[in-house]
Amino acid sequence: MNCAHNIYIHIPFCMSKCNYCAFFSRPCANPDWDAYANGILSEIDKWGDALGRVAVPTIFFGGGTPSLMPVKIFEQIIARLARTFNLSKDCEITLESNPGTLTDDKLSDFMTAGMNRLSIGVQRLNDDELKFLGRRHDANAARRLIQAGLHRGLRVSADFIYGLPGDDARSVAALCREINNLGLRHCSMYELTIEHGTPFAGMNLNMPDNDAMAEMYDAIDATLNMPRYEVSNYAAPGDECKHNQNIWDGAPYIGIGRGAAGRPFIAGVWYEQLGAGEKFEKLSMNARAVEMVLTGMRTRRGVKLTPCTRGVINMDFAHGATGLVEISGDRLRATKQGILILDDLMIKLVK
Ligand code: SF4
Repeated sequence: MNCAHNIYIHIPFCMSKCNYCAFFSRPCANPDWDAYANGILSEIDKWGDALGRVAVPTIFFGGGTPSLMPVKIFEQIIARLARTFNLSKDCEITLESNPGTLTDDKLSDFMTAGMNRLSIGVQRLNDDELKFLGRRHDANAARRLIQAGLHRGLRVSADFIYGLPGDDARSVAALCREINNLGLRHCSMYELTIEHGTPFAGMNLNMPDNDAMAEMYDAIDATLNMPRYEVSNYAAPGDECKHNQNIWDGAPYIGIGRGAAGRPFIAGVWYEQLGAGEKFEKLSMNARAVEMVLTGMRTRRGVKLTPCTRGVINMDFAHGATGLVEISGDRLRATKQGILILDDLMIKLVK
């Protein structure tokens, strides 16, 4: 019997493309939902054949903008997953959403259909900044959706972007104070990076330099009322995203939908998976252990030291790099100092 797998389902459609976005998504508010759902349902069947009736602790609908999906399609997908796998009683089911795409009724209907965690792309709480980013909603629409979720007792997370042209530690601290007032127990803070092929890439923007970015990162840590539990993620204790934590910890997962990546573990062998057959290749235990170290070290609790991960970690370096990494119980983690130079640190840490 194979072990538990987490499931990521990709819904690659958006109302329009944001100026910074390099994700695999395309502007199409009314795609052929039935056709897309049929593709997803048949992928679920194939995974059922490959994995058997494994336990599923988390399901994450990511995008794109999954909240554009009709609730009927969501219900079909959840029903097929429940028929094929053994969904845990407390299965975390997250839906990514954008303000302006969920009426109160639709939000309630998603909840009735099983969604129990809402992740909202807010990005900023200022209308001019939202316009600059190419977002379709204003700050009030974002506030309304957060409150609608919280009032219904949902676990709500919100994504934000910092490091816009003109941003500094003060402006980002002000944003964090506003976030604190929203009553959220989870948020993600992403640094704006200019990706090739996006509208921002052609705009010659005057971006903050690395020192300014580091100051903003510190300002976030110092101001948000939730502790950081991963490089870009903050949560009140107990409200961390289980799906991402499992994946960062090296648990198996499958990706369903166009362009979705996975790391299934079938009959004792790891695989690198992309989409429905775009890629399906064996992954050596060593290569998988390196991935676990890379993702685990980005988290506050660190990477679990197992024979597998110890095999790819330069333990002499780890014991000598006081102030940058620390061992606590069976975990190795980066200190606050270490996190700031994580990329350089990883080059020395991984054999
Ligand atoms: S809504 Fe999200 S996925 Fe869609 S274009 Fe904007 S940033 Fe990209």
